[in-house]
Amino acid sequence: MTASTPRRILMHANDNVAIVVNDGGLPAGTVFPDGLTLVEGVPQGHKVALTDIAQGQPVLRYNVTIGRAVRDIPKGSWVSEQLLEMPPARELDNLPIATVKPPAFDPLEGYTFQGYRNEDGSVGTRNILAITTTVQCVSGVVEFAVKRIKAELLPKYPNVDDVVGLEHTYGCGVAIDAPGANIPIRTIHNISKNPNFGGQAMVVSLGCEKLQPTRLFPANSIQIRRKDDTVATEPPVVCLQDAGHVGFMSMIESIMQTAEQQLEVLNKRQRVTCPASDLVVGVQCGGSDAFSGVTANPAVGFATDLLVRAGATVMFSEVTEVRDGIDQLTSRAVNAEVAQAMIREMDWYDNYLKRGGVDRSANTTPGNKKGGLSNIVEKAMGSIVKSGSVPIAGVVSPGDRVTTKGLNYTATPASDFICGTLQLAAGMNVHVFTTGRGTPYGLAECPVVKVATRDDLARRWHDLMDVNAGRIATGEATIEDVGWELFHLLLDVASGKKTWAEHWKLHNALVLFNPAPVT
Ligand code: CA
Repeated sequence: MTASTPRRILMHANDNVAIVVNDGGLPAGTVFPDGLTLVEGVPQGHKVALTDIAQGQPVLRYNVTIGRAVRDIPKGSWVSEQLLEMPPARELDNLPIATVKPPAFDPLEGYTFQGYRNEDGSVGTRNILAITTTVQCVSGVVEFAVKRIKAELLPKYPNVDDVVGLEHTYGCGVAIDAPGANIPIRTIHNISKNPNFGGQAMVVSLGCEKLQPTRLFPANSIQIRRKDDTVATEPPVVCLQDAGHVGFMSMIESIMQTAEQQLEVLNKRQRVTCPASDLVVGVQCGGSDAFSGVTANPAVGFATDLLVRAGATVMFSEVTEVRDGIDQLTSRAVNAEVAQAMIREMDWYDNYLKRGGVDRSANTTPGNKKGGLSNIVEKAMGSIVKSGSVPIAGVVSPGDRVTTKGLNYTATPASDFICGTLQLAAGMNVHVFTTGRGTPYGLAECPVVKVATRDDLARRWHDLMDVNAGRIATGEATIEDVGWELFHLLLDVASGKKTWAEHWKLHNALVLFNPAPVT
């Protein structure tokens, strides 16, 4: 078989459409090796009808109805989004609860990585000084200070990888007591405790803001080791409006002095051998195309199963991208309590969208559609496969920290930056990100392993993509091959190997999820 041989991928034996694989798509008249002939051109990543589909009949992909034909679709046609009527949203009642008997998996033993063990039991994959901010007003000052800390202090502390200002737009001009305001507040709190920061948070505050440091860190909610080895129960705070600050440079000096104390403690950290069960992996996708659900996401799903078998924690998220597969998810819950928690999160989000006057159809982007994803149902099925086949063991609300090992549904919006921010708050120490259209996404707080869905993207973006799952479409590798490759790469990255995003220092901003009003 050569590169020009017409190729298509079928996701399930019951499906009546398949995905065209060849770069540039295939022209009308193309004959597949089994005799299927295209009656019109089909772009790469788009669907071809395998049988005649009568008007009103379901179009099946992943053995799921992704829409109904709005007119007769002859065999060999391009099944474009205009030919599909989207099925109605699945209601949240009468769902199957914990009905799926999970496949019997043997535990995977003996896999380890070199990580930084923290006093709270969590493990960092990087050793980073994080400077928490209570309000956007201080961000320029923190940015200035971070530059000087990097230039003047960091070289003295070679075991510390980086210094990061946790900047955000929250803190003032917000309805801080409104329902929903607890989400951004606990997000900032929990991000400050991310395992990669070694329990050494410090805070820069303005002074007059609504989100006071004592509100962000109530008494005894955090433990900070001082350089004399005693433990404080509140983080050190530099308040810019303190009367003691005379002139801008005195603020910078205060921040640098505090930073140096924290750096001294962080510099004592050493990597030690940790079991793979200490990994907390957040998975998400962005810039998806029709290959996301064919190559990269199934490979991530295979790696998810391997990680969970090794005892690790894996989080999948993106409410609007899994909402249409809610019945698959509730049936995979370990018990009724976990299923109910998922339904509660979906219901909260349905209402949140309704309040904003939008529905689930607002998710798919022009790029998704150009890439062959007709609607959110099709996108959801391809997104859910990232969660593999292990049971869903826990549910995490937005901004909360994950506490259950195994596969967790961590409820977040699908927005790449908000999802990443909330997974950081949940305690993520390695991030997996699949992309088909291509995005240079990266985070300063945690390594991001990017998986390309297509050979073409992996070739053009060879110094941005860490894994090429496009080899699954070309037949060079199987889903299992790429899943194992990703599993091993995650252990290497957790041990310190740099991802491409780290190499180039590509860092997206933290974006808080604030469902509460702004005043
Ligand atoms: Ca996303």
